[in-house]
Amino acid sequence: MLFHTTVKKIIHQKGKEYHIWLEENPFHPEGGGQPGDSGEIRSRRFRGKVKDCEKDGNSKFLTVFIQEGSPETGEKVEVFLDDARNLVLSRSHTAQHLFSRVLEDHFEGLMTTKVNIHDHASTVYFNFDGDLTLRDMFDAEERVNHLIRMALEVKVLGYEYDTARSIDGLKAKWDLLSPEEPVKVVRIGDMDLNACAGTHVNRTDEIGGFIVLALKGRKPSWEVKYSLERQRICVEHSRILREFSNTTGLSATEILKTFRNLKVENQNLSSNIKNLIPFVSIPWNISSAGAYQLYYSNPESLPLEIVNQLSRRKIEEDPNSLVLAMVTGNERNLFNFVLRKGEKVELDLPALMDSMPELNVRGGGKGSFFSGITNIGSFPKWVDLISSRIKK
Ligand SMILES: [Zn+2]
Repeated sequence: MLFHTTVKKIIHQKGKEYHIWLEENPFHPEGGGQPGDSGEIRSRRFRGKVKDCEKDGNSKFLTVFIQEGSPETGEKVEVFLDDARNLVLSRSHTAQHLFSRVLEDHFEGLMTTKVNIHDHASTVYFNFDGDLTLRDMFDAEERVNHLIRMALEVKVLGYEYDTARSIDGLKAKWDLLSPEEPVKVVRIGDMDLNACAGTHVNRTDEIGGFIVLALKGRKPSWEVKYSLERQRICVEHSRILREFSNTTGLSATEILKTFRNLKVENQNLSSNIKNLIPFVSIPWNISSAGAYQLYYSNPESLPLEIVNQLSRRKIEEDPNSLVLAMVTGNERNLFNFVLRKGEKVELDLPALMDSMPELNVRGGGKGSFFSGITNIGSFPKWVDLISSRIKK
């Protein structure tokens, strides 16, 4: 939509961002979790993108990113409202009314606390002192889609504050409303009645489709992410699932169960390995490094996690020593290593590693522990270098 008006005042400017107050402003301001309208603005002297519309007391101003020239007070301007984007916001916001209503009706005590409306996916925040599952959200999603298909009329009426307060069943945040201003009341069919300053569609079927993407949180604070791109997301997700099912030979219904079983198996395996560590020993080579002993070993067939535990045990046995363990890494010609020092060793390992650039080490650690990757898998080189640095 195109409008003609005049720049009333430039209230703020920082670089290319201007806050512009217009004589007449057709943009809907940001509020209640819904972002302000966006679009474009131009005159003979300048051209810019309208990023947002914000409210300041009773007036509203545009946040404009200038692309060319600069605006001036009093000049005539053309403003374009991005109707397509604003319609998406209105659809998403109206869907949130339905979703909140469905959940509030179904879960006693559930309350919507905050919303964040965006073009592609929006989020609703709830307070509910009970458990919610994704299955519950799927049920609510179905009811919302049913209400959408019913093509319920969405009516917006303005009431005097006192009259609004007497409307039976009207949901409102009265502490945020001014008694001096009229209250905008939004009625959807005969199922939802809300005091709301956002923008809405005229009939629920204009929303299109509703799909829940995620449920997060724990009682009493919950958040649900949803989108209106139901068709696209359903197809995309179904493709991923079919590909997964085809590759693994698992039916779609078996996947989650199998994944959970594998997770349990994996945890059991990890704890079994941990239990085995006290019974595992590896051969250590010994060399002297200054006043200390240097133990080193490369137990090739053991996983790094176990080697790490064994090196820790060794250093506890002999606090007057250094321990170096190395295993072949996942990539060819790379080795994973762990270097530790005992309690009685007065050295800073990161500083020691820094003094040996010849080892091409990538990694990190604290004073008594250092781990990382190297392409130098030759122990004689490590041992010689460490000994010579410590003797200094
Ligand atoms: Zn609303």
